[in-house]
Amino acid sequence: MQNLPNYLYIAASVLFIYGLKMLSHAKTARKGNMVSAFGMLIAVVATLLLAELEIKWILLGGVIGSLIGAAAARLVKMTSMPEMVGLFNGFGGLASLLVGWAEFHKIHTDPASGSLFTLIAIGATVLIGGVTFSGSMIAYAKLAEKMEGKPILFKGQQLVNGALLILAIAATALFCMNPASTYIAFIGMIMVSMILGVLVTIPIGGADMPVVIALLNSYSGLAACAAGFVIMNNVLIVAGSLVGASGLILTSIMCRAMNRSLANVMFAGVGATATTGKTFEGEAKTVSATDAYMMLEAASSVVFVPGYGMAVAQAQHVVKELGDLLEENGCEVNYCVHPVAGRMPGHMNVLLAEADVPYEQLVEPQDVNPTMTNVDVAVVIGANDVVNPAAREEGTALYGMPIIDVDNAKVCIVLKRSLKAGFAGVDNPLFFAPNTRMLLGDAKASITHVVSEFKA
Ligand code: NDP
Repeated sequence: MQNLPNYLYIAASVLFIYGLKMLSHAKTARKGNMVSAFGMLIAVVATLLLAELEIKWILLGGVIGSLIGAAAARLVKMTSMPEMVGLFNGFGGLASLLVGWAEFHKIHTDPASGSLFTLIAIGATVLIGGVTFSGSMIAYAKLAEKMEGKPILFKGQQLVNGALLILAIAATALFCMNPASTYIAFIGMIMVSMILGVLVTIPIGGADMPVVIALLNSYSGLAACAAGFVIMNNVLIVAGSLVGASGLILTSIMCRAMNRSLANVMFAGVGATATTGKTFEGEAKTVSATDAYMMLEAASSVVFVPGYGMAVAQAQHVVKELGDLLEENGCEVNYCVHPVAGRMPGHMNVLLAEADVPYEQLVEPQDVNPTMTNVDVAVVIGANDVVNPAAREEGTALYGMPIIDVDNAKVCIVLKRSLKAGFAGVDNPLFFAPNTRMLLGDAKASITHVVSEFKA
């Protein structure tokens, strides 16, 4: 009975790992989320048993937190999910920072109650937690378009960041040596970590935002792991390292998708001084939904390329319906998803899975690009940056990012509402290419129109 909490911790850890594995596949992701959440419930109950705490206030906090979390998850629009994920990452960092602070307060009043190891762990928790919190607030503001999305750079930025890091380490050394009389060093450390979080996030922007989101997610896990060492809680150490490690893997996948190194994303401020590409002369050729229907009806191979606009229009179900009609018409249909399409990793995969698009029809850009010239019609549904040929031109903010080469298809139909640039703010020459036809309007309305033509 005495070991019950530890057995429960092991059960919770197994559920976290199993849930994480299920999250790696869209089909099992929803269940994976539930399995992990159940693991967390077990961990919370075990912690309360272990600590024999006065649980009145903890329960009250739990109820308030659960109500806020449930309301946020229910009320938030699908298109605002990335901002919410950004905020939740930040709150994870803040929670770890507060754990470190509470523990420091205890040691400050009773220095005998803490070891040097605990104080160093507190330093790591506060540093990573503070960076995660303020960095996530900047990411939130950029994603919610409450601040300019472009990278912000100033002279000597790396030097200032380096100096702040040294300051944070010096403050940790100070309060480690004498926790009883160095509260001021501890508070200074909190402030320095918050400023550092802002300064390391503002140089990242535009198309590189997916990397910063994955990285902050990883930081929130590392902060939790450090907090686990502060209070010597096994399940917090396990959960934190799982989040930290999976976030790092995601960061590396996103860097690969952008064809950039992590150092390049974090320090180079890609796009800060880049041009928005050429200004294009001439007219884009627009078509009606009836024209688009006729092109599609005659096609024997079609590739759909979804982007953020599909999420805004919530067009995934009609896209699937159109795909089914094309297949019935004897056409080969595939869906090509760029890893950074949308506003969060896996955004498009989730939407296509929701519409029951079979996995066999999902193709990778690197597989479809070499044979794109054989594709009769590439249909771009609210995608922009991920199909922007300006990424091949040195000097633009997208330079170097591999794109889906829809401009090489025999015909490319682009569905969007205007000729405006995408998230990275780079004008798109695809709209003016000789084989491109613009079907302007809301993507769901346009495709519904094409579907009704097919049915008629
Ligand atoms: P973009 O954001 O580049 O473009 C989306 C396009 O959708 C817009 O140009 C818009 O054009 C169009 N659109 C919006 N609403 C509708 C609608 N109702 N119907 C039809 N079209 C619509 O999207 P991409 O997916 O191509 O690229 C994603 C970008 O976001 C990349 O730069 C990526 O780096 C970045 N990013 C990705 C994240 C991730 O984790 N995946 C996270 C953060 C950023 P118009 O207004 O003319 O209709």
